[in-house]
Amino acid sequence: MVGIDLTGKVAIITGGSRGIGRATVLRFAEAGAIVVINYRSDYTAAQDLVKEVEETGGRARAIQADVAVKDDVDRMVAETIKSFGQVDILVNNAGIWEYNPIDKMTRESLHRTIDINLMGCFYTSMAVAPHMKKRRTGTIVYVSSTAGQRGEAFHSPYAATKGALISLTKSLAPELVKENIRVNCVAPGWAETDMTVPTLSGPEAKDVISKIPMGRVAAPEEMANAILFIASDLASFITGEILNVNGGAVLCG
Ligand code: NAP
Repeated sequence: MVGIDLTGKVAIITGGSRGIGRATVLRFAEAGAIVVINYRSDYTAAQDLVKEVEETGGRARAIQADVAVKDDVDRMVAETIKSFGQVDILVNNAGIWEYNPIDKMTRESLHRTIDINLMGCFYTSMAVAPHMKKRRTGTIVYVSSTAGQRGEAFHSPYAATKGALISLTKSLAPELVKENIRVNCVAPGWAETDMTVPTLSGPEAKDVISKIPMGRVAAPEEMANAILFIASDLASFITGEILNVNGGAVLCG
């Protein structure tokens, strides 16, 4: 039987406490990985998830760190290596989606999105790359968005950061391939999470769904499944790929 086995692997999942990150934590734990659940502020959600993983026989640890703060990220990676000896998989999932019309944007709101969605991914990658290179093994996954592929009105900082993650993937994949480190990206369309519930439960929902050929939004688990696949050995010959998970909405890589 073909399956995904992450036994013996240690994975850091940023923004692992809620939404797509949470679903990914549960999938990775199910597959046997030791999971570090990164979160920024929701201590209860992160600790409840650790308990949930442990109750099903898995191993997890929650580590608070704001990915926008390099010292936080360095500490998180150092604590992971101290606790579990290694980092095999990094999933860059933490992100924010803020309404930011160009004429109302402030320096603060612009930088908040850039610092979390883009700088955070650089900081985590900078922190794990030397370790992965030394061990000559590892895999990095960035969570982009359809917004990074086709743009998104009133969310230009978000779309720009998500587009940058696609370029980052295509830059680091060839840079790290000789060290046996794979770098890939998952580009989700609409999924039902805390991030999207206000929109999906409002008047715009009909319009959103009408633009998705499958006629529905995704469950977070459907994003987690794609992240699990691309991080696993089933994807051992895949690097530099942008995996669309969007119900047919945006057909580009
Ligand atoms: P969500 O439900 O809002 O959850 C966000 C997660 O990120 C939470 O665990 C949050 O932790 C964490 N986080 C936010 N800022 C952080 C920071 N500075 N440092 C560390 N952790 C931070 O979001 P989601 O819908 O699951 O989205 C996950 C990713 O998928 C994001 O990158 C998003 O852009 C992308 N995406 C989502 C959709 C969608 O439709 N949902 C579509 C395309 C792409 P706390 O709870 O502790 O704040």
